[in-house]
Amino acid sequence: MREMFEGMEVIRDAEMRRYTTLRLGGPADWLAFPGSGQEIAALFREAGKAGMPVTVIGHGSNLLVLDGGIRGLVIRVEKNMREIRRSGNRLTVQAGAMLGSAAAAAAEAGLSGLEFAAGIPGTVGGSVFMNAGAYGGEMADVTVQVRGVLPGGEEICLGREEMDFGYRTSAVRRLGFTVTEVTMELAEGDPAGIRARMEELNARRAEKQPLDVPSAGSTFKRPEGYFAAALIDQCGLKGYSVGKAQVSLKHAGFLVNTGDSSRDYLELVQAVQRIVKERAGVELEMEIRILGEETRG
Ligand SMILES: Cc1cc2nc3c(=O)[nH]c(=O)nc-3n(C[C@H](O)[C@H](O)[C@H](O)COP(=O)(O)OP(=O)(O)OC[C@H]3O[C@@H](n4cnc5c(N)ncnc54)[C@H](O)[C@@H]3O)c2cc1C
Repeated sequence: MREMFEGMEVIRDAEMRRYTTLRLGGPADWLAFPGSGQEIAALFREAGKAGMPVTVIGHGSNLLVLDGGIRGLVIRVEKNMREIRRSGNRLTVQAGAMLGSAAAAAAEAGLSGLEFAAGIPGTVGGSVFMNAGAYGGEMADVTVQVRGVLPGGEEICLGREEMDFGYRTSAVRRLGFTVTEVTMELAEGDPAGIRARMEELNARRAEKQPLDVPSAGSTFKRPEGYFAAALIDQCGLKGYSVGKAQVSLKHAGFLVNTGDSSRDYLELVQAVQRIVKERAGVELEMEIRILGEETRG
């Protein structure tokens, strides 16, 4: 198996709790950190020949990895693919760059449009996959081109209109490809004003969100006509816990973790869903993506 990863940074039996912001998850059989789209394509081709399943992750800020871990190969795009290039009003960013770094580069260049993204702790690739958004902005507003690699190893390039962005979803999800590079179109602005807006939004985040405790952000999607956090709070669930997984006392939309059990976390998610359904009649759908298996078979 080692030949498949020749010259590449790779870890065997990698504890996924080290690679997710929730700090949960058992071992991935193999965890690779490719440095380019070509390396990702090569990994897919080799894994395909070996009949090995492949899972792609970014910063792991929207993931619940189960206790049994992930079989096969996990590709972490974040570490070695972080280049950011500017050309006029456009930023072309490798998928592993953090959104906050792209927002900082935009501010530095006097480009406005990414202020909303400054505090979202994910990669540009994961954020395009999720169509991440906050404070009235989302990735769909700025993304003009997305390059990637299909599971067969072929390259793909989609324009804005082909990206099919929706609430926390995009064509990346439907087509199942790995994002390698994203081009964003921004508008000229005043660097000091852009920075001030970013600081203001980050201060609002710090005031409202439990940023000092492991979480994956908002656990649930916004149900139509409601706010998940308000519903959970109204149902008396602030502070409700299963083991060391808890509904945050600071922000009821965040289910936080101070323990080491994905099973507890998932039980908490299910209990909140059940109680909100019983008491408020609303179905909460998870925004966080679940990966892996409950036990290592
Ligand atoms: C404190 C906190 C605050 C947050 N605030 C917000 C917020 O305001 N708004 C918001 O939308 N989200 C928020 N999030 C959630 C999260 O940061 C975003 O969803 C982010 O875009 C996920 O990026 P990631 O790189 O961490 O993706 P991951 O969590 O690693 O992966 C998420 C999904 O994307 C896929 N993926 C990742 N990289 C790629 C790639 N290169 N190609 C193809 N698929 C890929 C994965 O397979 C997975 O299905 C928050 C999270 C935390 C912890």
